[in-house]
Amino acid sequence: MIILEGKKTANDIKGEIAIEVAALVNAGGKKPHLAAILVGVDGASETYVSAKVKACEKVGFDSTLVRFNNEVTEEELLTEIDKINNNDAIDGLIVQLPLPKHINEMKVTEMISPTKDVDGFHPVNIGRMALNLPTYLPATPAGILELLERYQVETSGKHCVVIGRSHIVGSPMSILMARNTNPGNCTVTLTHSRTQNLKEITKTADILIVALGKVEFVTADMVKKGVCIIDVGITRVKSDKTKSGWKLLGDVDFGSVKKMCSFITPVPGGVGPMTIAMLLKNTLMSAKRVIY
Ligand code: NAD
Repeated sequence: MIILEGKKTANDIKGEIAIEVAALVNAGGKKPHLAAILVGVDGASETYVSAKVKACEKVGFDSTLVRFNNEVTEEELLTEIDKINNNDAIDGLIVQLPLPKHINEMKVTEMISPTKDVDGFHPVNIGRMALNLPTYLPATPAGILELLERYQVETSGKHCVVIGRSHIVGSPMSILMARNTNPGNCTVTLTHSRTQNLKEITKTADILIVALGKVEFVTADMVKKGVCIIDVGITRVKSDKTKSGWKLLGDVDFGSVKKMCSFITPVPGGVGPMTIAMLLKNTLMSAKRVIY
């Protein structure tokens, strides 16, 4: 069993990005610049955004964090996005989700210029992804592809089962694994909350990608021997054993399942750090005008 070390791989990628940034700046170019918008004071969102800003510093990017309180109107948010869209100094823009209920997330996503959409959530970029055109891939699925590639996990002809059909993880993942690319070329089954006989399906998976947000949902009896498991789930649960008072758990019961696996990602230290590395990679691509 091989552990897919997301944390280590993400650090390798950040090192590669830092070298490229230094070369850009040495050649007289400007540092890539990521802007993030955070609405409200949700503990998890705060943690994710500060990890992204810290990662920018680490690789030599500029970053801007724009904060709004929970009462911000949709109009005010859209106006700020428009301002950043038109600011040539900024290469990438992300809006940390979820947003308060009175704000339409899809409207916000569509407002971000596809050229600065380094989260890869804009319908234009999702469409380009589906057509296998150059684009910003959604960061979490892109991080999973990168892990599979760097660990040389064979995907061609394999049965890939995805649990969860969210717009940001499960659905794009299912499209990417079915594309005629490497990694890719899988036969894909996308499962969700209405799927019947889930266990019968997961037991046939060569590659199982789990993104439903239910702690330790996948157990050893749901998988076949030799499976490669990618655990996307991150749930913060209270813990009296950590300094922060929280610990992170995945969607897979790692302890019981790992003995069945050829490869498995841990939580934490698996997909999470890869997501941030891919966000940086997309921002660098934007700064270098690779796609648009
Ligand atoms: P979501 O919460 O938007 O949707 C959950 C999906 O799971 C839905 O499509 C639903 O149909 C499906 N589902 C729910 N119960 C199910 C069941 N019993 N059987 C089969 N399918 C079921 O999903 P999300 O935003 O993709 O998040 C999923 C998890 O991944 C969460 O824990 C989230 O925190 C985590 N996440 C991690 C990263 C990362 O960087 N590692 C990024 C995004 C999300």
